[in-house]
Amino acid sequence: MTESVVAEEGPASAERVMLEILIHGPLSRVELAERLGLSGPSLTRLTKPLLASGRLSEGEPLARAAGRPILPLDLDPAAERFAGVKITATAIYAVVTDLRGVIRGELEHPLTDHEPELVADAVARAVGALPAEFAPLSGVGISLGGNTVDGRTVTESHFLEWVDVPLADLVEERVGLPVTVANDVNALTQAQHWFGAGRGLDTFVVVTIGAGIGMGLVAGGNLVAGAHGAVGSVGHQLLAWSEATCWRGHHGCASALLSTAAVEAAAKRATGTDVDYGAVLRGASRGDPALRGVVDSAAAALGLLLANVANALDPRKILLTGEGARLGEVGEHAMLTSLVEAADWKTVRTPVEVQPFAFNEWARGAAATAIRARMSP
Ligand SMILES: [Zn+2]
Repeated sequence: MTESVVAEEGPASAERVMLEILIHGPLSRVELAERLGLSGPSLTRLTKPLLASGRLSEGEPLARAAGRPILPLDLDPAAERFAGVKITATAIYAVVTDLRGVIRGELEHPLTDHEPELVADAVARAVGALPAEFAPLSGVGISLGGNTVDGRTVTESHFLEWVDVPLADLVEERVGLPVTVANDVNALTQAQHWFGAGRGLDTFVVVTIGAGIGMGLVAGGNLVAGAHGAVGSVGHQLLAWSEATCWRGHHGCASALLSTAAVEAAAKRATGTDVDYGAVLRGASRGDPALRGVVDSAAAALGLLLANVANALDPRKILLTGEGARLGEVGEHAMLTSLVEAADWKTVRTPVEVQPFAFNEWARGAAATAIRARMSP
């Protein structure tokens, strides 16, 4: 037996089989062996114990080849349950998902205090209150706006005024389950990669528009964290000089021009009245000239940001998501015009796809990080 055969039969390979079927399954044995670069007999040796223990099962026949049914391998997504928790300044949003990230229940609790111990208490209460019918809970994922390292510690979070808070430890003490902590945009990117519009893409970017502007990166098939967990910190990238400022005082950064609050402020300057974000987009769609101007100038700034991202990273696709993502639909013409003007000739054709967004996507992303932690060898 060669060394490579020994290596491919190690425990890591059983995990790779499970992961491939989780993301791409159900899969025939032939397809699975091809995807993993394994020989038929090696695959059989790996899958036999997984089938015997019930972790894998044979699905419905795919087709008949020469009279013999092809039984694909699959796993039971309801065999395990995961909690995903998104922390905002005022609320805890929690979902429970199955192994494939499908939401099976959700809840929202108010958050009144930002003291780390009290936030951990609130997270534990929310997890405990989630519906518990179909399987034992295998893990908890938590996401929030801020930087995290090693899936354990929040190194910096502006809105909570936290520095180096060991959030995973605090919550694990309370729930008695493995806990993973992630930046919210990275968590969302993970969910898109495994269960969403990024499925099957080796290199793509997620750009989020909402209260802040964020970015997540998958490269070479893996979520990229960066040296300090800060990949995708594009929220204060300067785009064009403007009177508009963000909370840090930058003139014309992404947050000053594109955040939902920035668009609402621009609409107020243009019309003299308070207009909420949805009404700004609806007004622009109807052809209101003042609101059309507001949307087009924010969308043009968005196009510049996307050009910078495409030029630096050369992704297969840019997914636009978050509460404010419809800016990319209503302002599509202005966004694409400035994207094309500012993009390098090699990246000018990067497709931009606007994702429909519901707020529970944030918590679902958190659950995806818990699923990822569970499926990692
Ligand atoms: Zn700024």
